[in-house]
Amino acid sequence: MSPVRGEGGGAPAEAGVPSPAAGRAAAARPRPAGRTPAVPRNDGPRSPAGASFQEMWAELLPIGRHPGSGGYRRYAWSGADRECRAWFEEQAGARGLAYEVDRNGNQWAWLGDPAAGDAVVTGSHLDSVPDGGAFDGPLGVVSSFAALDELRARKTRFTKPLAIVNFGDEEGARFGLACVGSRLTAGHLTAEQARRLTDADGVTLPRAMEAAGHDPEAIGADPERLARIGAFVELHVEQGRALDLSGDRVGVASAIWPHGRWRFDFRGEANHAGTTRLVDRRDPMLSYAQTVLAARREAELAGAVATFGKISVEPNGVNAIPSLVRGWLDSRAADQATLDTVVDGIRRAAGEYADAHGIDLDVVRESFTPVVEFDHALRDELGRLLGKDTGLVVPVLGTGAGHDAGILSGRIPTAMLFVRNPTGVSHSPAEFAAEDDCLAGVRALADVLEGLACT
Ligand SMILES: [Zn+2]
Repeated sequence: MSPVRGEGGGAPAEAGVPSPAAGRAAAARPRPAGRTPAVPRNDGPRSPAGASFQEMWAELLPIGRHPGSGGYRRYAWSGADRECRAWFEEQAGARGLAYEVDRNGNQWAWLGDPAAGDAVVTGSHLDSVPDGGAFDGPLGVVSSFAALDELRARKTRFTKPLAIVNFGDEEGARFGLACVGSRLTAGHLTAEQARRLTDADGVTLPRAMEAAGHDPEAIGADPERLARIGAFVELHVEQGRALDLSGDRVGVASAIWPHGRWRFDFRGEANHAGTTRLVDRRDPMLSYAQTVLAARREAELAGAVATFGKISVEPNGVNAIPSLVRGWLDSRAADQATLDTVVDGIRRAAGEYADAHGIDLDVVRESFTPVVEFDHALRDELGRLLGKDTGLVVPVLGTGAGHDAGILSGRIPTAMLFVRNPTGVSHSPAEFAAEDDCLAGVRALADVLEGLACT
């Protein structure tokens, strides 16, 4: 049974697993006072799944890693992505799994006959954000193959088809839209919309697919494929510190927080930075700056998050008072009402600050994704399977990050497992999970797959 309850986390990596750079970053992070020491290194003999995990991890580790930043640049359909996809195909072949690429470029490795229906599917993605970490995505794919190895070592008999999937273009780093592979499959993105996606070099998604050897002709909704799936379980590194704070290695996802993006345009009057008296200025930077602080305050009050991470300034001169400051707000909260309260509060404050400085304010909501509740029955089943031998209650946690599992949740029963990330850092080379926690994740996933596919 999975020892999902941990000792406090943050163990330095063993050689090669995970990356030494990530390990150093995690080890350098100050620990909260009174915490138990880091998990001791596990130098004992590895289980077959542990050994295969290490081997797979070491194979993937150099692919697409930028020598300067130490981060990963595995953009959809790029050379690095193609190397990752070749690796996936090799892993499928090495295990005697039936390999296929679906119409949207997602890769599948099947054990058993897909046509039998009610398949149990696990997996994640292999692409990355610019200078991303090693774990976001690959941990789920590598753990899926390792969990299958674990089940085979247990001599488990499968009563349902099992598949491992690598969803294409999850991060949206190249074409600006996340989860393209699963969105297309679920019908949330039409083929026409997808065909218009273009990268920074003017290359369209179909062109990029073609260049990587995938025929883009048939992209689009794939209801027949989804109809064959009884459950999808995605394992993912946690992108926060909830498990670290609770002292657990593995948790089950409850929901993906609702989130949105709003553009705030503060318009004032450009003028000379040296000759314009302070009292004569209409400086939009002032109301923008106050709004940034208001966002922090509103988010803190509500237990939500709010971030101004992107800004554009006109005319953008060192010696010019700006005429326009445009800032983008990203805000997320556990529920819709809280998110509304936070964003309304920020808008109200921005309006007051703008009035005080003679600034015109426009606020436009650019995108919004409502809360995604994972399938309650499947979530409860995961909790039961993970706690059945130990009696431990597996923590259930929400997340502010989007995932393929969230995209598919409206079509098929989906669930997620999170593996502890001691720093909570993600989308950065400092992203980290200790090897013992990764292996606890593999065992947890194996237990879940055994319970779902072998009953
Ligand atoms: Zn991810």
